[in-house]
Amino acid sequence: MYDIIEVQVVALVILAIIFGEYISYRKLPLVSTKCFTGILVFAGINLALDFITCFTIVNLNTIPEIVNRILNVLYHLSFIGVMAMLFFYVDFFGKEQKRESIGMYISKMLPAALGGLVVLFSDISYYYDGTKLYTYGMAVNLCALICAIYVLMIYICLFIKKFKTGKRIRISLGVGIWVILMIIQLYTHVLLSTIASVALILIIFTAMENPKLYIDDLTNCFNEKALKLMIDEIKQFDKRCYFIQLHVDNYDNLSARLGSRVLNWIFLQMTHFNNKNDNMKVFRRSADSFVVLVNNDGNKVDFIVEKISEHISKYNSVLIRYHMDVVNSSAIETYKDLESILDYQNYTYSYMDKSMYHYVDSTIRLAVERKDQIVSLLKEAIDSDGFEVYYQPIYNVKTKTYTSAEALVRLKDTSTLGYVSPQEFIPLAEREGLIGELGNVVFSQVCHFLSTTKVRQLNLDYMDVNLSAIQCTNPNLYNEIFDMIKINNIDPSSINFEITESAVLEGGNQLTQIMDELRRIGCRFSMDDFGTGYSNMSNLGKNDYQTVKIDKSLVWPCFSNNESDSKKARIVLKSVVELILNLGIDIVAEGVENQEQLDMLKELGVNKMQGYFFAKPMIGRDFIQFLNKQDSAIKKQK
Ligand code: C2E
Ligand code: CA
Ligand code: CA
Repeated sequence: MYDIIEVQVVALVILAIIFGEYISYRKLPLVSTKCFTGILVFAGINLALDFITCFTIVNLNTIPEIVNRILNVLYHLSFIGVMAMLFFYVDFFGKEQKRESIGMYISKMLPAALGGLVVLFSDISYYYDGTKLYTYGMAVNLCALICAIYVLMIYICLFIKKFKTGKRIRISLGVGIWVILMIIQLYTHVLLSTIASVALILIIFTAMENPKLYIDDLTNCFNEKALKLMIDEIKQFDKRCYFIQLHVDNYDNLSARLGSRVLNWIFLQMTHFNNKNDNMKVFRRSADSFVVLVNNDGNKVDFIVEKISEHISKYNSVLIRYHMDVVNSSAIETYKDLESILDYQNYTYSYMDKSMYHYVDSTIRLAVERKDQIVSLLKEAIDSDGFEVYYQPIYNVKTKTYTSAEALVRLKDTSTLGYVSPQEFIPLAEREGLIGELGNVVFSQVCHFLSTTKVRQLNLDYMDVNLSAIQCTNPNLYNEIFDMIKINNIDPSSINFEITESAVLEGGNQLTQIMDELRRIGCRFSMDDFGTGYSNMSNLGKNDYQTVKIDKSLVWPCFSNNESDSKKARIVLKSVVELILNLGIDIVAEGVENQEQLDMLKELGVNKMQGYFFAKPMIGRDFIQFLNKQDSAIKKQK
């Protein structure tokens, strides 16, 4: 008896291993996963019936004929079931497959249903010749025919629907092996049908259905691949849901302090709320970002966000800094959309908004689109001379003349998106790695401008040029600046770089080194935007700045309608100014828009001012004209 079932025993062992692996991991609620579960169940039933029928055929004399017939018919029906489920599996897996009509489903089930019905009533014969088992008759032939139809349908589906090449090859190979084994069975009468379906299942399991493929090893939640699949399915079935992004903003800092093992353990605990609720699934999208998928209506989202933050606050002792974004499924079509929206949200978060969470609907597309458009405008501008430098004069109260100016970049193209402020495009240029080239364009225009005789005659002390911290990550920056200064034959002391305090802090050693080198050849430095960010007095003394530019946010509140506020703001401004002047550092006040502000600043001892009250930034030609006009006005007064 054993030599008859040895193939089945091998099949049983393989199937048991697959089954064991399959049930020990969490699975995604995908239609394809449900189909695969169906395949496994049918294969299990088929294998059990295979063992039973082997036994009953060998013992034909003692088992009643009707029992034998029923068992054999069931065996064949379950075999058809495996192949039909397999077809549905492949059919569902075909990407971008839209939901189908009921009629379509029924027609696909027709071969199995009709064929099965006929099998029930057709003849089936079997015998055992002492060494081999034989099964034959109309029912067997029909069963083979139906399976052949499904095999054909699987191949058609594989080639007309969208599959990744790897998947297509694996499924084709599995089905091919199945066909070969079945042909061998036909000629040799060795029972290979169960091992054939188990081999096919094994190939599909390892290639696509192994739940481990979709689990993040380190945190045990679903991974990015799983999220992609889930989004495909959500879109296929038009499901409404919400994606809550949990972005860990200080990931690098945490992993350096805690080590990745501890950090992953914390993340594992953090994502534990997931187990308790069937409507929520947690995915690890990248090292520092988790996505919680919520199958729920909108009014429960706030509640869920609150619950998640409550849960995470338990790990506050490790000082996790994070933010959340809630993305409505209506805003996305594919995984890529979600990626770009979350990327955009992280970006805006890092620059401005620090509130706890954002709700994002389909209107976000416009913002993401605008960002992409600006980035392509920038690329175009770099390639085709699309930037223009404007100059805003800086007034010296003591000499009553304009002694310097700030170079401010503008995009020439105002027809595509209208005027785009550098406040919007500079951070994008930094993020997209374009700031280096942009900075070079600006610097070269400034150097060229300063080298013209008309500007030399203006007798400006220096020109302010903004330097972003990210520009200083370029180890070649000093050489590039030096070369441009040389080519244009200008005095390095006529360049004053403006750099923000936070840029200096983030720029680290490399930036300090570049600053030192530039200072050595005579360039000057101002600390820009003092009063925004983390203004720290101690930094003023550290880096040899000749000038501090006080941001308008320190000046404007001095004129607030609320008297107590304006009083306090004046006290702050007064002491800041005193302190800076005591350090022997010059001050430029930014954003001076009216006489009142000018008078107050003058009284405090601020000698240099920049703002719309004097002049807006203007193109080079106008700037020269502006200064010449002032000059002749002064001469006339004299
Ligand atoms: P910033 O360095 O603080 O430049 C001063 C900004 O204040 C300029 O904005 C200027 O037009 C504006 N401003 C001047 N006076 C007044 C005033 O009286 N009232 C008001 N409300 N605003 C005034 P702009 O040109 O839009 O530039 C914005 C920011 O973009 C700059 O801020 C600077 O951080 C950055 N930026 C501009 N050009 C460059 C550049 O060539 N390179 C780099 N890295 N950054 C640049
Ligand atoms: Ca500046
Ligand atoms: Ca500034």
